[in-house]
Amino acid sequence: MRDRAELPGADDTIAAIATPPGRGALAMLRVSGRAARALGAALFEPFDWTPGRTHRAVMRGGPTGAVIDTVMLTVYGAPRSFTGEDMLEVSTHGGHLVPALALDALLAAGARAALPGEFTRRAVANGKMDLLQAEAAADLVEARSTAMHRAALHQMDGALTRRIAALRSAVIATEALVAYDVDFPEEDSGALPRERVARATDELLAALEALLATAGTGELLREGALVVLAGAPNSGKSSLFNALLGTTRAIVTEVPGTTRDALEARLELDGMPVRLVDTAGLRDATGDQVERIGIEVAERYVGAAHAVLVCGEDADRLAAADARIAALTSAPRVRVRTKIDLVSRSDELETSIVANGYYNVATSAATGAGLGALATTLGGTLAALRPPEEGAEGMLTRERHRRAVARARDGVCAFADAWRAEVIPSPVAAVHLREAATALEELIGTVQPDDVLDAVFRSFCVGK
Ligand code: GDP
Repeated sequence: MRDRAELPGADDTIAAIATPPGRGALAMLRVSGRAARALGAALFEPFDWTPGRTHRAVMRGGPTGAVIDTVMLTVYGAPRSFTGEDMLEVSTHGGHLVPALALDALLAAGARAALPGEFTRRAVANGKMDLLQAEAAADLVEARSTAMHRAALHQMDGALTRRIAALRSAVIATEALVAYDVDFPEEDSGALPRERVARATDELLAALEALLATAGTGELLREGALVVLAGAPNSGKSSLFNALLGTTRAIVTEVPGTTRDALEARLELDGMPVRLVDTAGLRDATGDQVERIGIEVAERYVGAAHAVLVCGEDADRLAAADARIAALTSAPRVRVRTKIDLVSRSDELETSIVANGYYNVATSAATGAGLGALATTLGGTLAALRPPEEGAEGMLTRERHRRAVARARDGVCAFADAWRAEVIPSPVAAVHLREAATALEELIGTVQPDDVLDAVFRSFCVGK
């Protein structure tokens, strides 16, 4: 771990506007570092350094000391603050100018503009939270669905940290068993310690695999379930896409194959984030290269989908589209019989086929009929993808997590092979266990190589 004093600018005092720019009733600025108290005394009147207290004050700044705003000022004393350092939180009036003038005054008085995520980085460096909790704080800011929101809250509460920490303890316990075997080879009778090590290793591998298996779900909550509208051109996909969104983002046209590319929209269904994609129609391509590309894009989306809404305007076409899509994906399919408003009484025969269930839902983008039922059916289909108790047990939500746990698993695997083969001396085999422990430590942030920290905090907002 790098010594805190060596971090670039770890000793200076940082300031940033923590709220997004633009018109708004209020804005908030944050200041953290040793000079926070002195800055407060220089810029606010009155200034009361009673940690945890919020008071009203006039903020002055600039060369003439002109009034910038009347603000609410909250002061925090180290170590009882978000960053663990002395901190100020300044609530100013919102808009473009006032927060900018307030930041200028703080910078002119000696603060440095904070880098993205620098407040949280200091919180991690000062042991206020670990790296997984810091990431969860960022996820909470980004959350666009209740499922992601809950998962982020669990991770902030330490659900994933506890699970990783337990695995790390298990690795270290196994290392201790190996060390015992090395130090006292004659102490234990025969195969007993070897067997114990092998058993502990098997359990560890199973636990690591179980954790790795949560990566798909975590990613799903972050990115959203991919739901693809597919079917022949003109089957009503774009109209359904628009009707589901209640917007007109997709251009609806009567020319078959006009939706060349894919259109994507984000929405939430029963708390699950969804990426709804409208694709070009699936049909046998003519010589037209642009159209062929459209069809390839559609097929790729269908192949990656978590669920497909197969669209068709009558029994034959729906069945044909369904068969075609079944050949492309094993994802669940919802068969949507579109343009139901066009079914007249004279189509009695067809309605009886409809009633016999060649479709799952019948809709009309024109009248809105069946859209609620479609949302309910799709919600039910996606419910199977939801994590149990929304990640209360801890799950992997980022590629960084997946890679680190895979590295730990590979380390334990390599150790297990070496241990069973009995050709490599135990201390050499144990090097693989150390590698596994290090991977887990980096994940939590117990060990913090700079490149790991840089990668994590790069995506944060300024002021976070
Ligand atoms: P896509 O090629 O599958 O995306 O199909 P579109 O959504 O572009 O629709 C093709 C044609 O069917 C257009 O003329 C739409 O106006 C029409 N259409 C789509 N949905 C409905 C519907 O629910 N009712 C009626 N009557 N016409 C529809």
